Formats: sequence, structure tokens, C-alpha cells
Amino acid sequence: MIVVMASRAQEQDLKRVIDIITEKGYKHSLYHDKNQYIIGVIGDVKGQDKQQLEACDEVEKVVTVTHPFKLASREFFQDTTVINVKGIAIGGSKMVVMAGPCAVEGRDITLDIAKRMKELGVSVLRGGAFKPRTSPYSFQGLGREGLDYLKEAGDLTGLPVISEVLSPEDVEMAYEFIDIFQIGSRNAQNFSLLREVGGTDKPVMLKRGMMNTIEEWLMSAEYILSEGNSKVILCERGIRTFEKYTRNTLDLSAVPVIKRLSHLPIMVDPSHGTGHWRLVAPMAKAAVAAGCDGLIVEVHPDPENALSDGQQSLNYEKFESLMEELKPVARAVGRSI
Ligand code: PEP
Ligand code: MN
Repeated sequence: MIVVMASRAQEQDLKRVIDIITEKGYKHSLYHDKNQYIIGVIGDVKGQDKQQLEACDEVEKVVTVTHPFKLASREFFQDTTVINVKGIAIGGSKMVVMAGPCAVEGRDITLDIAKRMKELGVSVLRGGAFKPRTSPYSFQGLGREGLDYLKEAGDLTGLPVISEVLSPEDVEMAYEFIDIFQIGSRNAQNFSLLREVGGTDKPVMLKRGMMNTIEEWLMSAEYILSEGNSKVILCERGIRTFEKYTRNTLDLSAVPVIKRLSHLPIMVDPSHGTGHWRLVAPMAKAAVAAGCDGLIVEVHPDPENALSDGQQSLNYEKFESLMEELKPVARAVGRSI
């Protein structure tokens, strides 16, 4: 349920309404939109409690959200949420490109990639320190050492950094090294991990679980939002279907569906979504045309010798061409990149 305060409501009116909500045993989440306070009331709200809130002087209206996801829903917040991280706006008219290696492989290579990404107009540096590999015998990432290199690369270039956390215990440790927490597809329904990042104040990029419906994915977002963290970015990265030619089936129809259902920004990952470098550029362009808020792309200086996901990584040259090719597509849908 959503309580929309009148625009003339003062701090004390807001406090009074929040006190009532708390006394009744509900949790809440507060948004400020167009000079109005909007309070999301979390829980199964009883009819009489709704009536009491409606009767408060400075409450403009009380709206029941029909979807099972509440705080993620566009009924709750009609504008698009824009998330700011170190001067980069995610969800604004300028699309955001996050790029970098699948895995952080060492110090020198990470600094080299970061510098090139910055020169090529990338907004956020990606790099996995903890890698959720399908095989326990594959490279598992450098762990904390990898986070050190990522932070150094971020400090050197001024780029915010995004990296995946695999378990709730990683979150506190990783907090000081990274600017955006990434929740990977395999952990999209790891509810204790979702709650843990939901208790922080850093943006969280939530990838779609490979077996998740759009509704399940938004319910995962709800776990993060309901802990009080409103900075959730969604990321479509493909789902499992019967098709074996591609690694996953990149569900680009999820982009306009999410735009209709939710106010949260949505990114697309054409690298994991396809699993082949040749398919990355066409699907990246298609994603921009479909109205996403940005892309996350795997880039490596020497894909053939990459320790992880070389087959779907673009080298610098191919990535540079892609950045150029994206510009007219973005312009055609009224955006810039
Ligand atoms: C990644 O981006 O590094 C990754 C492992 O992606 P996904 O969780 O989508 O498989
Ligand atoms: Mn990867």
C-alpha cells in the first residue's frame, strides 16, 4: 500500500503518519517525488488501518498496489528512478555503458583495461573478483586481491566499479572496495544475500535469474527494496530455453515489460545473454533500440587467453567500434550514449 502525502505536508505531518504505520507493526520505505512524500507501507495492510491513514489531515491518498511486487512497481513510483553513483546517472537520458573483463586477472591488466575503458567513454568499470563458475576446477577469481586491483583502477580513472558478491559474508568486506554490488544470475533468489545488500546504502545491480519469470525477478528486487535500499538496477542477461546455439536466450521483450511494470532502471548484458562475441554487437544495438538504460559488456585485451568467458569478450578494437555503432541507435530512440 502507498500513502501519498499532500504537497503542503510538513515534516511533523510526515512523522505523525510514519508513527502510525510503525505503531501498527508495519515497515515502511520513504520516497520523495516532485515535492511530495510517498510512503510505501510494507505488509498485509488491514482495511481499518488503511482507513485511519486516509483520515489523516495531510494525506492526499492511499493507494493499494495490485502487483505482488510493491516498492518495485510503477504504481508506487510513477517516474523512472535515476540512481547516481560518483556523478554517473543510471536511468537518465544518457545511457550508461559498464564494461571490463569477466574476471579481474591481475593488477597491470586491470589498470590497462580501466584506462582504455575510460578513453572509450565507458561510465562504470566491471570486473569479477569472486567468480561463480559452473565448474569448481575453473578459475574462481582473485577474491579480495581482485577487489584491491579494481579499487585502484577505479581511483586511477575516476570510474565507479561494479563487482559481484556471492554470499552475505562478502558484502561487508567488499563494501569499501566497490561502488555497485552485482548480484549474479545464480544468486538472484539467494534471499539472505538480497537482504544483506538491501541493508546497505550502495546501488545494487540485480541480474535476472536464468530460470526466473519477470515477476519472480521483481520479487527479488522487492527483497532489496524492502530492506530500505532504494537503489536497485535490474539487468536482463538471458534465460534458459531449449535453444542451445546461444548460451542463453536474451529476452529483450523484458525491457519494455519492465519499463511498464517498474520504475527501476534496466540494463542489458549481451555478453552472457549470447555467449558469443559475434552476437554481442547486434544484441547490444537491439537492446538500446528496445529502450534499456544501459549495457554491461565483457571486454578483454586478449580474449583468446582470458581466464574466464573469452569466447564472449570483445577486444579493445571491436569494443571501440561497438561504442561508435551504438550512437546513432541511441539517437534514434531519443537517447545518447
Ligand atoms: C558476470 O557478469 O560476471 C556473471 C557471472 O554474469 P551472470 O550472473 O549473468 O551469469
Ligand atoms: Mn562472464
